[in-house]
Amino acid sequence: MASHIVGYPRMGPKRELKFALESFWDGKTSAQDLQKVAADLRCSIWKQMADAGIKYIPSNTFSYYDQVLDTTAMLGAVPDRYGWNGEEIGFDTYFSMARGNASVPAMEMTKWFDTNYHFIVPELGPNTKFSYASHKAVAEYNEAKALGIDTVPVLIGPVTYLLLSKHAKGVKKTFSLLSLLGNVISVYKEVIAELKAAGASWIQFDEPTLVMDLDSRQLQAFTDAYSELESSFSGLNVLIETYFADVPAEAYKTATALKGVSGFGFDLVRGTKTLDLIKSSGFPASKFLFAGVVDGRNIWANDLAASLSTLQALESVVGKDKLVVSTSCSLMHTAVDLVNETKLDSEIKSWLAFAAQKVVEVNALAKALAGLKDEAFFSANAAAQASRKSSPRVTNEEVQKAAADLKGSDHRRATNVSARLDAQQKKLNLPILPTTTIGSFPQTMDLRRVRREYKANKISEEEYVKAIKEEINKVVKLQEELDIDVLVHGEPERNDMVEYFGEQLSGFAFTVNGWVQSYGSRCVKPPIIYGDVSRPKPMTVFWSTMAQSMTARPMKGMLTGPVTILNWSFVRNDQPRSETCYQIALAIKKEVEDLEAAGIQVIQIDEAALREGLPLHKSEQAFYLEWAVHSFRITNCGVKDTTQIHTHMCYSNFNDIIHSIIGMDADVITIENSRSDEKLLSVFREGVKYGAGIGPGVYDIHSPRIPSTEEIVDRINKMLAVLETNILWVNPDCGLKTRKYAEVNPALSNMVAAAKVLRTQL
Ligand code: GLN
Ligand code: ZN
Repeated sequence: MASHIVGYPRMGPKRELKFALESFWDGKTSAQDLQKVAADLRCSIWKQMADAGIKYIPSNTFSYYDQVLDTTAMLGAVPDRYGWNGEEIGFDTYFSMARGNASVPAMEMTKWFDTNYHFIVPELGPNTKFSYASHKAVAEYNEAKALGIDTVPVLIGPVTYLLLSKHAKGVKKTFSLLSLLGNVISVYKEVIAELKAAGASWIQFDEPTLVMDLDSRQLQAFTDAYSELESSFSGLNVLIETYFADVPAEAYKTATALKGVSGFGFDLVRGTKTLDLIKSSGFPASKFLFAGVVDGRNIWANDLAASLSTLQALESVVGKDKLVVSTSCSLMHTAVDLVNETKLDSEIKSWLAFAAQKVVEVNALAKALAGLKDEAFFSANAAAQASRKSSPRVTNEEVQKAAADLKGSDHRRATNVSARLDAQQKKLNLPILPTTTIGSFPQTMDLRRVRREYKANKISEEEYVKAIKEEINKVVKLQEELDIDVLVHGEPERNDMVEYFGEQLSGFAFTVNGWVQSYGSRCVKPPIIYGDVSRPKPMTVFWSTMAQSMTARPMKGMLTGPVTILNWSFVRNDQPRSETCYQIALAIKKEVEDLEAAGIQVIQIDEAALREGLPLHKSEQAFYLEWAVHSFRITNCGVKDTTQIHTHMCYSNFNDIIHSIIGMDADVITIENSRSDEKLLSVFREGVKYGAGIGPGVYDIHSPRIPSTEEIVDRINKMLAVLETNILWVNPDCGLKTRKYAEVNPALSNMVAAAKVLRTQL
């Protein structure tokens, strides 16, 4: 029975790794303490998969920070500024690259394909020296072997590694990063030889870039790379794993022709066309097909009957002994274990499967294919599928109708943006280069405790409101002292920008431990959208009006936009994403209108995750952007000219969707910028006209480093070179919730000082 798991969550069922990392970073525990937690986690994951009966169990899918950074370490491709001594890479160098240190900023971080996971972008150039500098893959393989478990070591493939890299500072863009393939492959050969010597019989190369729209030169790199590696593969089985989308026909042809490869893994959940390709174009004889039928990106129980029939159809194409049941991608993008969900009701629980349950599903499917179908398991699954389809909790006719009525009409504010900005300035009277922050202030231990105790009914509502009010007051006073122009209340009542809203909307369910890694030690707990969405009552008006009453300065109302709520939730797989998005937009629209009616003059609707919902294939992007931008406009098309609508986005690389961003028609946009080398500005340099307010972040909030006033002045000057003075805002990259006050106070103080220095010069 052949079953395979592409990868597994590394944080642990209760985020054990997160806590171990953070206490190590804070100097509270030793490196050995951290290593012990990590080893225990790996051990329990391997054992769990072995006990479930999985044949191909992955190793090296654990990471202390990020698997791409692990690959950079493996290849010794450490940027010079980290002063690495060339020895086996240890925590110092590794975490400096990930997080920066007192003297050097971190490497850039960017989204992993269309997920909410972020990886550390390799920085390469003609002078990058590659050497085998981290033996982690082999160490993990040996560690599992010592536990009696033979694993499949997982490496990021050489071509994907290069295609995800960027040019190091100072390297000409004309330099082809793919020209480094030979150097990179030399190191891979050493790694492969060592894994082989250790006893590995399979190696998995993750080459997810094969699903992208690649040109012929990029595709050729795969052919070159694997021809070059072929001799190293003798005596080994090699799996090329792809995920997250359809593999385009050309790439499918290239992939399945790769030399020395024994098997190919495809995402058959998102890659429905790949399924057709396999059936129509065929599959190379005597190769293994790793069929990713169990969804690694969502939390729904697999429709086992449907998967089984897909698998049976594939069996007739590739042959019985060549079909391996697998997950669509690494399970790191789903929650860890349903067993720890004590608060979900049993009906909803019966509809779900987290990573641990998906492992069991994969195995059940493999057994069924082998003629050992567990009838009880399959019929319980069929009953759950049927109950979800017919449950009255899922459907709300009124919401369905309101969302359907939106179609075909445009939703826009009546006046154009420059007239609106004039009207707003008359009321707000802001200085040039107005300063603001993105929303959250540091989330202290005390705050978290207060929220926890309130949730657990350990403190009364009155005590809770009092504590939060004090916190808001503290944050308001601090901003006034810092002399920030447009204030925020600091979001102390929010655990998370999506969960907070989901908890107050109908159609959402919540987990207690359904965490998914976002970057480094940071995890998010996406809500589960299981039914039609509506807003029973106002969600933020109480806190926002309280905060506004504490100051004469404008206080931003703070909402999360529909696209972000959608993209950061586990969504329904029984209706199109766009339908769900329109429903959420209507709910947020009501909130916007209530805030306005309560006297809030500036309302920020965060669309942090707009870009990450962008389909990987160009051909599907326009449609997504159309309904996503439309959904955003629906939320605020009804407000007065004098109400200033802000939005915030956190990603680099938005140049290709600038016209959609303009199409959102917000009055002001604040946007992450500093960790991506001001790529953002180039689009304006190239002449795109932007009439609304814009605040490209002036410093990186992902790092504990405190930027100096001069540095911020420099940054702003660079922005002023391409953007008009009267539209530029000054703000950090993103919310401050992960930072400490010891970092936030001086950083914001320097930021305000920088704005003031420039105001005197303009
Ligand atoms: N308003 C949110 C905050 O400041 C925005 C966070 C985000 O963009 N991820 O926390
Ligand atoms: Zn952000």
